[in-house]
Amino acid sequence: MKKIGILGSTGSIGTQTLEIVRNNKDLQVTALAAGSSVSKMEEQIREFLPQIAVMWSEEAAGELRTRVADTNTRVLSGMEGLLELAVCPEMDVLVTAIVGMIGIKPTIAAIEAGKTIALANKETLVTAGHIIMPLAKEKKVSILPVDSEHSAIFQSMHGENRERVRKILLTASGGPFRGKKRDELRNITVEDALKHPNWSMGRKITVDSSTLVNKGLEVIEAKWLFGVEPEAIQVVVHPQSIIHSMVEYADGGIMAQLGMPDMKLPIQYALFYPDRRPMEGKRVDFFELGSMTFEKPDTDTFRGLSMAYEAIASGGSMPTVFNAANEKAVALFLDKKIRFLDIYDLIQGAMESHKTIQNPSVEQILEAETEAYDYIMNSGRRS
Ligand code: NAD
Ligand code: MG
Repeated sequence: MKKIGILGSTGSIGTQTLEIVRNNKDLQVTALAAGSSVSKMEEQIREFLPQIAVMWSEEAAGELRTRVADTNTRVLSGMEGLLELAVCPEMDVLVTAIVGMIGIKPTIAAIEAGKTIALANKETLVTAGHIIMPLAKEKKVSILPVDSEHSAIFQSMHGENRERVRKILLTASGGPFRGKKRDELRNITVEDALKHPNWSMGRKITVDSSTLVNKGLEVIEAKWLFGVEPEAIQVVVHPQSIIHSMVEYADGGIMAQLGMPDMKLPIQYALFYPDRRPMEGKRVDFFELGSMTFEKPDTDTFRGLSMAYEAIASGGSMPTVFNAANEKAVALFLDKKIRFLDIYDLIQGAMESHKTIQNPSVEQILEAETEAYDYIMNSGRRS
C-alpha cells in the first residue's frame, strides 16, 4: 500500500490525483489540504477517509470540523496545519498541487522528513530550487515531476546517461493567442484568456499559458530539476500538444514522450515510477492527427518567456520577483482590474525595481515576494 498526501486536493491536479487513487486500490490517502472549499473537502473526506485534512483559513477549518465530527479525520488549519501534514508519519508520497509560493515551506518540511515529492507546484522550484534540490539530494529524497513537460523530459532520460544530454526541447502549445501580434492583444478579455486550446487546468496556470509566463516558469523549473543551464533549454511551439517534450543527446539522437494531453498520465507516472500502470483514455491516433507542426516562440509579443530568461540570468531572488509579480498581476487581470498586456508591464516594472539578493534564504524569498506584491498593488491600482 502506498500512502499519499495531497496539497491542493480540490484543484485541477488534486482532483485528477484522486481519480488515480480511485483506479488503483493499492493507493491510500493519508492527508488532504485545500484553500477554502469546505463542501468539496467534506466529500473527499467521506470518500477517502484521510487521517488529516487541512483548510487554509481557520474559519473554513472550523466549519469543516463541525461537518465531519462523525469521522476520524483530524482537521487542522493554516501554515501550521500544512507543516504538520508534510511530516505525517503515515505518508510516503506528497503530491504538491497547491498554487503559488505557499508550497515552499511544506515541501521543505516533507523533504526533511524523507517523503517522496510528486511535484506539480512549479512556483516552489522556481523560487527556491537552490534550496530544494540540494536538500533533496542530501536527504536522498526523489523529486518526481508532475508537470507534463518535465515528466516527458524525465521519461526521455530514463535509463540514459545524463552526462550525454545536449539539449532539452521544451514544447509549448503557444496558448490561445498564438500567431497574434501585440496590437491584437490589447482588448483580450478574461474569458478569452481562459480558453486553452488543448489543456483543461486551473485559472491561474491557464492565464500563464496564454502569456507564455507558464513556459518561462517551466524553463526555470527544468533548470533546477535536471541541472541544466538555460542555454541548453530550447522552447519549441508545438500547437497539437502531442509531444510533451524531448531530450537531445550527444550523438544527435532525440528521445521524446508523446501522448494525448491528459495530466493523469504524468501524475500516475510520478506515483508509480518506474512502473507504467494501465490507464483508460483516448489514445493518439496518428492518422486522425495527420501532422504535427513546430514554430519558434514569438518572444517579442509574448514577453513572459524572455522575462523568465532575464530572471534566470540575474539569478538569486529575481525569479521570485518574476513569479510573485506575475501571480499578483494575473489575480488583478482575473478580477478585471487591469488589461491583459498590463501583466507584462507590471512584471517588468517589479523586476526593474528589485535589487537581486544572491542565494536567498526562505525568509528572503518570502520578503522578495512581499516586495513584488506591494509593487504590483501600488502600480496596478494606477494603471
Ligand atoms: P487549482 O487552482 O485548480 O488548484 C489549487 C489547489 O490548491 C486547490 O485545491 C486550492 O484549494 C488549493 N490551495 C490554494 N491556496 C491554498 C492555501 N493557501 N492552502 C491550502 N491549499 C490551497 O490549480 P492547479 O491548476 O491544480 O495547479 C496546481 C499547481 O500545479 C500549480 O503550481 C500549477 O502551476 C501546477 N500545474 C498544474 C497543471 C494543470 O494541469 N492544472 C499542469 C502542470 C502544473
Ligand atoms: Mg506544463
